[in-house]
Amino acid sequence: DLQGPTASEPPPAAATSIAITHHSRVVFPESGVTKGDLANYYATIAPLMLPFARDRPISLVRCPQGRGRKCFFQKHDAGSFGDHVRHVSIHDKDGDADDYLYVDDTDGVIACVQMGAIEFHGWGSMVGAVETPDRMVFDLDPDEGLGFAETRRAAEYLKEQLAELGLTSFPMLSGGKGIHVIVPISPEATWPEVKSFSERFARALASADPKRFVATMTKSKRSGRIFIDWLRNQRGSTAVMPYSVRARAGAPIAAPVSWTELREIETAGVWTLRDADKLLRRAASPALAGWGMARQTLPDV
Ligand code: ATP
Ligand code: MN
Ligand code: MN
Repeated sequence: DLQGPTASEPPPAAATSIAITHHSRVVFPESGVTKGDLANYYATIAPLMLPFARDRPISLVRCPQGRGRKCFFQKHDAGSFGDHVRHVSIHDKDGDADDYLYVDDTDGVIACVQMGAIEFHGWGSMVGAVETPDRMVFDLDPDEGLGFAETRRAAEYLKEQLAELGLTSFPMLSGGKGIHVIVPISPEATWPEVKSFSERFARALASADPKRFVATMTKSKRSGRIFIDWLRNQRGSTAVMPYSVRARAGAPIAAPVSWTELREIETAGVWTLRDADKLLRRAASPALAGWGMARQTLPDV
């Protein structure tokens, strides 16, 4: 049904022309977070998220019945996103073209929320240069039972090893269990080159310290270890975007942090959708100045 906003359910305060229907529909049953809350969150933090999430192919985690029910990844427009969500045609490995979604402004983000999106995931390359990634991600996935402290130490170790190679990296709490170590790069190397670099890096760490790290996805091999998920760095893969809400209990946020702050952090889900104002203040603080930004290229190794 097409029930619009009513007087008791005001539309999002921030600047967006997108009408949100079903404001009071509960999307996170444990915490009572509604679709209107979700739209307000995204309208507020869009200025923080867009520098990282705009103009790159995205996958959305949509949960039309709320996060307790069936959720799915959506990469393509089913015809209903409207004009504010843009399309880019990308060829697959067989040469067939397909339309992918991207957003370039707050209205685009909110139009996705109107369509039931909770999470925003993005490619490691931008729509204007799809074949040359501008971001490499090492997604640290701890085995069940490992504490956050182990994951945090692993992230710091990756930071040091990347620095040995001349690469600056930035940590992001996934909002789930792990940490993403993000390496911005100038869009010069191709996907196969970036994939190869990240695979060799992850495998080198795993073979140097096999009790601690594993570089293959197989869950059974993870026992007590941290999977360095380098597979995010292949063409067509995505990683959750900074400031995305996660479709998990309590509506945690994928949150940028500084390496110094990380030392004091005890969980991958520190902030929730209720913390939009805190996130805005944090983003303006010296700790996060320049987060995610570095001009650098992959070394020849
Ligand atoms: P956590 O810290 O709990 O691992 P995460 O976001 O890193 O959270 P992963 O399961 O490790 O979750 O997935 C890493 C990334 O891979 C996700 O952020 C997402 O972009 C992508 N991904 C995971 N599962 C799928 C899927 N079924 N389809 C498409 N992309 C996926
Ligand atoms: Mn992960
Ligand atoms: Mn993973």
